[in-house]
Amino acid sequence: MRFETLAVHAGGAPDSVTGAVMPAIHLSTTFVRAPDGTFPSGYAYIRDANPNRRALETAVAQLEEGASAVAFASGQAATMAVFQALAPGDHVIAPLDAYFGTAKLLREHFLPWGLAVSFVDMTDLGAVRAALRPSTRLVWTETPSNPTIAVTDLRAVVAIAKASGALTACDNTWATPFLQRPLALGMDLVMHSTTKYLSGHSDVMGGVVVTREEGRVAERLRALQSSGGAVPAPFDAWLVLRGIRTLPWRMRAHCANARAVAGFLSEHPSVERVHYPGLPRDPGHALAAKQMTDAGGMLSFVVPGGRARAFEVAARLRLITRATSLGGPESLVEHRASVEGERTRAPEGLLRLSIGLEHPDDLVADLAQALAS
Ligand SMILES: *Cc1c(COP(=O)(O)O)cnc(C)c1O
Repeated sequence: MRFETLAVHAGGAPDSVTGAVMPAIHLSTTFVRAPDGTFPSGYAYIRDANPNRRALETAVAQLEEGASAVAFASGQAATMAVFQALAPGDHVIAPLDAYFGTAKLLREHFLPWGLAVSFVDMTDLGAVRAALRPSTRLVWTETPSNPTIAVTDLRAVVAIAKASGALTACDNTWATPFLQRPLALGMDLVMHSTTKYLSGHSDVMGGVVVTREEGRVAERLRALQSSGGAVPAPFDAWLVLRGIRTLPWRMRAHCANARAVAGFLSEHPSVERVHYPGLPRDPGHALAAKQMTDAGGMLSFVVPGGRARAFEVAARLRLITRATSLGGPESLVEHRASVEGERTRAPEGLLRLSIGLEHPDDLVADLAQALAS
C-alpha cells in the first residue's frame, strides 16, 4: 500500500458493533475480566493499554515501517524512555545541535543518573567515529536539525555505530515518515514529537518511539511506558491519529510553501543567509535529495544587524505569528537565540520559520513588507 493510503487507513476500521466509521474515544480506565480471570478484549487497565493509544501505535509503526511503536504523553517523555532503556555507565553520542530539550535531558538528568554523553557535529562523520567508546550504547541523531536545518547522513551513522555494536536512534519529528524513513536506512529507533507535524494542528501534545524490530529494546520501552505511565490520554491519541490521516497532503503543501519562501529570502538583499536543504546552494542539499523525498517545512534565515534587527523583522510580521513550536497550519517565527538562552548556538540574527499552510504568496508578501527598509 502507498503512503497516502496507509496514512488514511492504518490503525483504523469501521467499528464492528456500531458501524461508526471514525473511532470512538474510549475513556474507560478499566476493562472487564472473564470468569477465568483473563482479559478477552486484550485490555485490562488504562496505563497498560487503551484502544485509542493502540490504534495510534499501530498506525505510526506502519508508517515508519517498524515492528512496534510505543506512545507517550510528549516528545520529551518518548526521548526520556529511550535514555531510561540504557543503563548507568553507558555512553551516548548526541548531536551538538540536538533539540534543546533533548540536550537538556541529557545534561541535567541523565548525566547525574550515570550516562556518559558526547555532543558531536553529526555532519562530521570523522567526529562521530572519534567519539565512539567501548561503552557507547546509543548514537542519537536528529535530521534536519534545529535551527540551521543541517542534514545528517543516517546510513553513514548507522555504519559507524553498527561497527561498535551501538544502537542508533533518529528524532524524525521534522521530516516525518512521509519525507524520511530512518528505519529503512538502518536505524534501530525512531522518535517523534507528535505535537508537531504528525498531529499537525498545534492542539495536542504527544510522543512516540518506533523500533525496527521486536526484542529487548521494544519490550523495555513498553515496560517503561506502562510502569512509568507517561502515556497520552485517549482523546490525545485520537487527535494525533486524526492528524495522521492528512499527513502526506499537509507535508506536500508545507514543502512547496517552504520552497517558495526560501527562494524569496535567498534573493532578498537584506537577508544574509538562508538555511533550507531544498535550495541547491545549501550544504545539506545533495544529502537531503538522497535521503528525503522533499526538504520539509522548516527553514531559518539570518539578517545582518544581529538580535536588534531580527527582533525588528519579527515584530513587523503581521501574518506569521511570533510563537514557538512548529508543524501546524499557521506559520510561526521564532528568535531561537533568545529562546535557548546562554547555551544557544543560534546566531543572534537568525529567525526560524515553521512554514504553514497559508497561500505562499501571502507568506512572501508578509516577509517582504517586514524586511522592507
Ligand atoms: C518539539 C520537539 C521535541 C519535544 O517534543 P514535545 O512534544 O514538546 O515534548 C523533540 N524533538 C524535536 C525535534 C522537537 O521539535
